[in-house]
Amino acid sequence: MSDPLLQTQDLHLEFKTSRGTLKALNGISLEVNYGEVFGIVGETGCGKTVTGLSILKLLPDSATITKGEILFEGTNLLALSQRQMRKVRGGLIAMIFQDPSASLNPVYTIGRQMIWIISQHSSLSHSEVVELAKRTLEDVGLPDVDRIMSSYPFQLSGGMQQRVMIAIALACKPKLIIADEPTTALDVTIQAQILALLKGLRDNYNISVVLITHSLGVIAKTCDRLAVLYAGHVVETGTTREIFKNPEHPYTRGLIRAIPKPEKRGSRMVSIPGNVPANPGAIIGCPFAPRCEFAMNRCFEEKPKTYQIEEGHYSACFLALNNKP
Ligand code: SF4
Repeated sequence: MSDPLLQTQDLHLEFKTSRGTLKALNGISLEVNYGEVFGIVGETGCGKTVTGLSILKLLPDSATITKGEILFEGTNLLALSQRQMRKVRGGLIAMIFQDPSASLNPVYTIGRQMIWIISQHSSLSHSEVVELAKRTLEDVGLPDVDRIMSSYPFQLSGGMQQRVMIAIALACKPKLIIADEPTTALDVTIQAQILALLKGLRDNYNISVVLITHSLGVIAKTCDRLAVLYAGHVVETGTTREIFKNPEHPYTRGLIRAIPKPEKRGSRMVSIPGNVPANPGAIIGCPFAPRCEFAMNRCFEEKPKTYQIEEGHYSACFLALNNKP
């Protein structure tokens, strides 16, 4: 098997806040392979977005990576200068955010923004850049590309703006796209179209995608493999098929139970009782213990290691010790 495209190894990150140090990532180890859609799922505050921003070194000044490595095709991104990282961003790794209107400049037309960004990452002539911009707008399913090119962001719907963001990413020919909640702000029909489009990037262009979402339902429709994050820890990882068939970690099981089902429309939504801990790094035992229906004394005193369930399927829970092959 070839080396992964992206690896984070034992990534630790903390924020300085007015109330002290907040340990947001506490040993995140992930692998994203070439040509796969990899999901990162968890509730708000679990460290999903911070993990994505760490990969691109787009963190605020209050954040410090205190330990770990981020390897992209074997190069440790954390050792690169900001100048070197500018070439990585957009050129090798692109990021798409939840709110496309916040990523697009409201005072410039779509065409002007696309031409400027593509020119930063290529040596094409102006007319070639314009051609490429139009072609990628067509590739992401936008009609009447001349009109789109001359439109301002506010003249497009949210779904169209998100397609433009994907087109911008695509035009720079990255090897990896990190999409952070790319469908949360969109209505259900458009969500499905954008997810299909992201999956198509893998199928049609062999681009790997990291999809960050709070919804396991979104993961189920889109991802090959996934990591479940809780309180800045990876609590379960495996193929989507295996995790849905045989969820091991109680948190994963809770997230699966919480997926809304059409046949249960009208009944109360299932949720996981309790809240994500405010400072997970300060917890001695299993970070999920205060919310876990299976918690034992040991869980409050000791952090579980990561145990293998099946090949490629791991869970950070003492219960997994009973299910080891
Ligand atoms: Fe629950 Fe204990 Fe497993 Fe943590 S280690 S998820 S508290 S059973």
